[in-house]
Amino acid sequence: MTTERLERAQGVMREHDVGALLVGPSADLRYLVGYEALPLERLTLLIVPATGEPRLVLPALELARAQDSGATDLVEPSPWTETEDPIDRVVTHLGDAAAGNLAVQDRLWTSFTLALQRALPSASWVPGSQVMRPLRIIKDADERQRLREVGRAIDEVHAQVPALLRPGRSEREVGRDIAELILEDHDEVSFVIVGSGPNGASPHHETGDRRLEEGDPVVVDIGGVRAGYCSDCTRDYVVGHVPPSYAQMHAVLEEAQEAAVQAVRPGVAAEAIDAAARDVIAAAGYGDHFIHRTGHGIGVEEHEEPWIVAGNTEPVETGMAFSVEPGIYLPGRFGARIEDIVLVSDEGVERLNHRPREILTAG
Ligand code: ZN
Ligand code: ZN
Ligand code: ZN
Repeated sequence: MTTERLERAQGVMREHDVGALLVGPSADLRYLVGYEALPLERLTLLIVPATGEPRLVLPALELARAQDSGATDLVEPSPWTETEDPIDRVVTHLGDAAAGNLAVQDRLWTSFTLALQRALPSASWVPGSQVMRPLRIIKDADERQRLREVGRAIDEVHAQVPALLRPGRSEREVGRDIAELILEDHDEVSFVIVGSGPNGASPHHETGDRRLEEGDPVVVDIGGVRAGYCSDCTRDYVVGHVPPSYAQMHAVLEEAQEAAVQAVRPGVAAEAIDAAARDVIAAAGYGDHFIHRTGHGIGVEEHEEPWIVAGNTEPVETGMAFSVEPGIYLPGRFGARIEDIVLVSDEGVERLNHRPREILTAG
């Protein structure tokens, strides 16, 4: 990594009159300096002043890990020992920057934020996302490449799912096998959703003890992290023969997902992409059964901006990456969702998942 992202953050801070950005262990910290800090009760805090040198305040016992990550090549470490008050150290490093607005990373623990506010009673506070959002929402060339690669990695897992779906196996057994396959070319498993039969009607179903039966639709939504970037992809399978009512519903969903993907190009409002999918589903009479937004941004986090949802009038831009994942859920019967990650490009759209989107039969 280079200091380029830190410098871009400083540029945004100067534009928005922010004196300093304070970042605890989080995706933002990984994004800025490549350090996967442990979320401990001991304070780790990256201090980025609008002008001048950033510092990384961290417990002395974590210094070796920070050095291994390469972060200390980018920022001066400021290790504190067990008997010291790290908040005093932060106040000292802030100096004059504390007179401006202080941007606190959105997920810094309240215990630290409140301690900082007590130590700096006259400072004014703004959410760190004011600084981080414009950086993170547009993926640079390196990030796009990582997203392509992690997309390919999850495609490889989906390619092997049909062999795992046999009558009599439980969702949990299938889920364990999938998690193992994810780890073949990811560093971490983020989640494994295996929703069989009526369980497929709950979008975030907890993989459980239900055993697969002949004729079951199975929604498989899986994701992991590879080289710091997330995958997230859903396909629908059927064990054995496809019930005609499921085939009919799925055909609508395929059309809806395709319409939403084709709607993606620079300058189109996020909500128009949502509407492209929703209109197809509503026209077929399933409107009340598409119960979530069409998509979410993805990058160093599984769910991040932009939100592809009604009411978000912001246009999408080249370099944004997000999911397109319409679903139809019929409680008590079955559900279906098709999810791909897409990148907005100057040409329009680039899909990062390539497995067939129709119902895939297994067993
Ligand atoms: Zn989800
Ligand atoms: Zn998903
Ligand atoms: Zn998703």
